[in-house]
Amino acid sequence: MTSQLIKKIVTGDEIRNAFLKFYSEKLHKIIPSASLIPDDPTVMLTIAGMLPFKPVFLGLKERPSKRATSSQKCIRTNDIENVGVTARHHTFFEMLGNFSFGDYFKREAIQWAWELVTNIYQLSVENIIVSVFHEDEESAKIWRDEIGIHPDRIVKLGEEDNFWSSGKTGPCGPCSELYYDFHPEKGLQNIDLEDGDRFIEFYNLVFMQYNRDPNGKLTDLKFKNIDTGMGLERMAQILQKKQNNYETDLIFPIIQKICEIANIDYFSSDLMQNNYPDLKNNNDLILNEIKIEEIRFRETLERGEKLLDELISSGQKLISGFKAFELYDTYGFPLELTVEIAEENSISVDVKGFEEEMNAQKERAKAASSNIDLTLEGSLEREIDLFNKTVFNGYKSLLSEAEIKGIFLDSTLVKEASEGQKVLIVLDQTTFYGESGGQVGDIGTIFSKDVEVLVDNVMRKKNVFLHYGTIKKGILTIGQKVKTNVSSSNRAKAAANHTATHLLQSALKSVINESVGQKGSLVAFNKLRFDFNSSNPISKDQISKIETLVNSWIMENHALEIKNMSKSEALEKGAVAMFGEKYDDEVRVVNVPGVSMELCGGTHVKTTSELGSFKIISEEGISAGVRRIEALSGQSALDYFSDRNALVNQLSDLLKANPNQLFERVNNLQAELINKNKEIQKMKDEIAYFKYSSIKSSAEIVNSFSILVNQIDGLDGNSLQSAALNLTSHLGNKAIVILGGIPNPENRKLLFVVSLGDDAVKIGLHAGKLINEIARICSGGGGGKPNFAQAGAKDIDKLSDALDYAKNYLQKTLANHSDK
Ligand code: ATP
Ligand code: MG
Repeated sequence: MTSQLIKKIVTGDEIRNAFLKFYSEKLHKIIPSASLIPDDPTVMLTIAGMLPFKPVFLGLKERPSKRATSSQKCIRTNDIENVGVTARHHTFFEMLGNFSFGDYFKREAIQWAWELVTNIYQLSVENIIVSVFHEDEESAKIWRDEIGIHPDRIVKLGEEDNFWSSGKTGPCGPCSELYYDFHPEKGLQNIDLEDGDRFIEFYNLVFMQYNRDPNGKLTDLKFKNIDTGMGLERMAQILQKKQNNYETDLIFPIIQKICEIANIDYFSSDLMQNNYPDLKNNNDLILNEIKIEEIRFRETLERGEKLLDELISSGQKLISGFKAFELYDTYGFPLELTVEIAEENSISVDVKGFEEEMNAQKERAKAASSNIDLTLEGSLEREIDLFNKTVFNGYKSLLSEAEIKGIFLDSTLVKEASEGQKVLIVLDQTTFYGESGGQVGDIGTIFSKDVEVLVDNVMRKKNVFLHYGTIKKGILTIGQKVKTNVSSSNRAKAAANHTATHLLQSALKSVINESVGQKGSLVAFNKLRFDFNSSNPISKDQISKIETLVNSWIMENHALEIKNMSKSEALEKGAVAMFGEKYDDEVRVVNVPGVSMELCGGTHVKTTSELGSFKIISEEGISAGVRRIEALSGQSALDYFSDRNALVNQLSDLLKANPNQLFERVNNLQAELINKNKEIQKMKDEIAYFKYSSIKSSAEIVNSFSILVNQIDGLDGNSLQSAALNLTSHLGNKAIVILGGIPNPENRKLLFVVSLGDDAVKIGLHAGKLINEIARICSGGGGGKPNFAQAGAKDIDKLSDALDYAKNYLQKTLANHSDK
């Protein structure tokens, strides 16, 4: 069964039940929650799931079974200072726990915790960080080698955070906690688990391992215990993807009830929304824009700071106006910040010089703008003003009389043009639709008995229609009487796609959200494209709902009503206008009664059944908060269906399965592939194991340190890394392991891994620095932590030089070390 088929656990109830079920299947007895008032004179309230078991842990009471699990209501009055300050502390909460009384210990506790959170709750590995007590190598090792967590995900914490004890004396032991990382994209460097915006601790495993005597001496407990706690509300926050614990289904119903009584809306804290409804309607868009702006500004700052650092470290005492302006103009770094940072470094900035540069820039900009008018486009732009606005009479008919008023050749006004020339024609009136409102310009012919022009596009400039065409016959002159003839089949396609666009907008509003609005559109002959605001992708299910809705409106055969009216009347009737668009006082309203009403100048079908059918072919994000749908209607949609059908038939032939069996067939193939990959991985692991076992004994001892420098080819990064880690743990604290190898001879690439035991780090060796030296010899680079580092390099011919260098260097350094 694939993980998609396992039902996702989301609600608080599901989380609680899944925890208890999971551990009861692992033979834990489910113990009901004890009272909040404990049977224990040392505490006032039940503060943790383990409290009811305290006498068992202290050996004062018979254990209820070897293993137990519970969901315990808790109150932590001492957390009151944190309530409302953090999003994760309450006074009252529920703690889920699993307990072992002298039965299983660390290994099982860790393995089961991992299985629970990754398999049952389905958290992904990239969101999990674990902490261990810094002296508890055993736990670190289980996480690393048995669970397989990357060492960078294991954070070592001190006694204060990760050592549990019930008092000055008595049972105690190290803990290991699981944290959820809300921002894995920030990387694994400089992890600060105290950063509450990024991490939340959700599961704590306590390993009751020692007894502490009055002198503080620790001795191993005869029966070792496990005590764990998982915050139910915190897991709900994670799985329900909420901002805080309060908005989870465990608490929010209470807040809702309070809101109901107080007659307020919890979420409507955007204060200006009554006066400025656009703020609310475009909420997602606004938040997104702010976020993007923030990211961009941070990038700008980082880039600028780097440049500024270079300037400062060059030893100059003055930053010139030119440099300050360059920082501002090219890198967007504000002058105020340059001055501030310079001051901190006792450097001054030539602000006057900056202003001079700024003024010079403004002059340049002005000059540039007066230059533009001299271009060809510019001349066309100016000549357009000579013409009256073109009368458009193409809503009702496709054929009409017209008179030639202007002819442009290469954007220059001419008196005549002849056969073969590409021209731009201005008429007094036309039936050709000029590109606007997303709809493309019509195509067709302009003709008389003497001339014929093929028109392939029509644009509008300041209400003058420009017909782009090629003269097929005759000589075109100003004042000539002609006829305009629009291609009816293409016009019909554009009309169908335009009406389909209106239906699509209505369907989006009804399926997604009333606040969905147009952000751009294209109505072409062969397809339509519609951009709209939405911060989330539209799901497959929603897409199919939208298609069904539009197709039902097509089949209902609504007759369109198109009327001119005053803008205020149109808006009053509920016509949809485009946000931010300027309209005249008189507007054209396209109404599909009961379905859609929009202000629109485009051409449309008479009845919706002319659309034939409607099909969405793609949905994607094109910028922050804006999605794009492409769709087809009429013949294009039918062509699409038959192409798809042909594809299914091809696949059927290829996979030797009839169309109904295709899904199952592909599914099986995929499962087979996964199994094969697993087999390959297993073989690779075996090879890695075989290779590193064979070099285990070749370590050279220098001053009690074990130096192992070796070439192992054929291992990928992960395998090389685990080989190095295994060798290190085999050789102990004094291990110095350096492996280099060519993972795949075809790629001509090198990999290096350096792994050091604790003692090697203590004497000052640094894996990150060491690896950089080694990789450099082979034209590579890398870095890492003091005890572990990885690098890649290109020059495979230098591999043995690099390893020799490392060996010599280590022999020398360690020999010198003992001299001191
Ligand atoms: P934190 O450092 O976040 O306060 P803690 O170390 O006090 O947590 P534990 O005593 O280990 O937490 O409790 C076990 C689990 O109980 C925690 O991992 C957490 O999920 C949950 N928990 C602890 N305190 C609270 C609280 N005040 N509100 C909600 N859940 C809590
Ligand atoms: Mg706490």
